[in-house]
Amino acid sequence: MSSEKLNTTLVTAGRKKKYCNGSVNTVIQRASSIVFESVEQKKHATKHRGERELFYGRRGTLTHFAFQDAMTELEGGAGCVLYPCGAAAIANSILSFVKTGGHVLMSGGAYEPTQAFCDTILHDMGITTTYYDPMIGAGLGSLMTPDTQVVFLESPSSITMEVPDIPAMVKSVRAVNPDVVVMIDNTWAAGILFKALDHDIDISIQAGTKYIVGHSDAMIGTAVANARCWERLRERSYLMGQMVDADTAYVASRGLRTLGVRLKQHHESSIAIANWLAQRPEVARVNHPALEGSVGHEFYQRDFSGSCGLFSFVLKARLTDEQVADYLDNFSHFSMAYSWGGFESLILANQPEELNAIRPAGPVDFEGTLVRVHIGLEDVDDLIADLDAGFSRLGK
Ligand SMILES: *Cc1c(COP(=O)(O)O)cnc(C)c1O
Repeated sequence: MSSEKLNTTLVTAGRKKKYCNGSVNTVIQRASSIVFESVEQKKHATKHRGERELFYGRRGTLTHFAFQDAMTELEGGAGCVLYPCGAAAIANSILSFVKTGGHVLMSGGAYEPTQAFCDTILHDMGITTTYYDPMIGAGLGSLMTPDTQVVFLESPSSITMEVPDIPAMVKSVRAVNPDVVVMIDNTWAAGILFKALDHDIDISIQAGTKYIVGHSDAMIGTAVANARCWERLRERSYLMGQMVDADTAYVASRGLRTLGVRLKQHHESSIAIANWLAQRPEVARVNHPALEGSVGHEFYQRDFSGSCGLFSFVLKARLTDEQVADYLDNFSHFSMAYSWGGFESLILANQPEELNAIRPAGPVDFEGTLVRVHIGLEDVDDLIADLDAGFSRLGK
């Protein structure tokens, strides 16, 4: 990356003249067939088809190249592969680097569908998975076997939000096998709050669905790879038919332009609300990486440049099913929905046993109901009033 500051890069990245055709934004080039002017040009396009040369729709068009260039610049990689959603980015990144008989080290705090992919598809292909405690740190290296092909990280953990000591983990696995492929689900950091590739990670994966798109109206997955892994990831993903339509790639590019200011607001608002929650008598603990006392806070302080709007908190009480329904059904500003990263606030709740079902490396250490919130761009006072009314419902 050049010496310019992040907010400037977010505005300029990918907006090359050849991708914009005179407009501010990149063109939307919808195409399956790309017409060659001559045999000579077809030869050239075929030779360079992996290098942002128009060749065939599945290899991308100018719209895709612009977004790929932007992501590559932002995450400091050699190239970016696009997928129809984050789950496709995860599955195909792993599939590109495993073989039958292989072994994967997977975070026990990983996004639940990522775990399910390992337990079903990888399992059926004869690839075993070992789940590790996200807070294992330098102990991760001791779980490496001669067959370990992929080490998969996620930071912070989904739902419970622990921040692992990623540098120590990467160092420990590379000490056993320098060539093992290390990937991370970097969605929470939106690819920019934690610079994965600067920490000797090979592939940084994102559900662009979340903060890059930022408006809850499109799905896309990205995987930015370093020079060592780029060609293999690109070619294998291509063989597995991975691509996204030009309109969605455009929407993702547009999302980048406001990502800096949106994240700044999500950061400020979520910390304000997390601090308010931490004072509430109903709350046993707040799992927000930026709050002192949250698990792995010291690693967040060291490795991240800021936070987003997603965190969770644990109630002292374990709510009954009726209480959960009354609590969740009656918010004014917090909608109940999966996904996150849009402009709107969201809320979901989990009982400890529901979480333990997706904690293969060990149970959670609390007994109350966990509430996960995404703090959107509404005014903080309105969100606090809404949460306050929620506690009043619980107190009835
Ligand atoms: C949402 C999410 C995904 C999956 O992204 P989709 O675009 O919904 O497929 C992957 N990882 C994390 C951490 C997520 O939150």
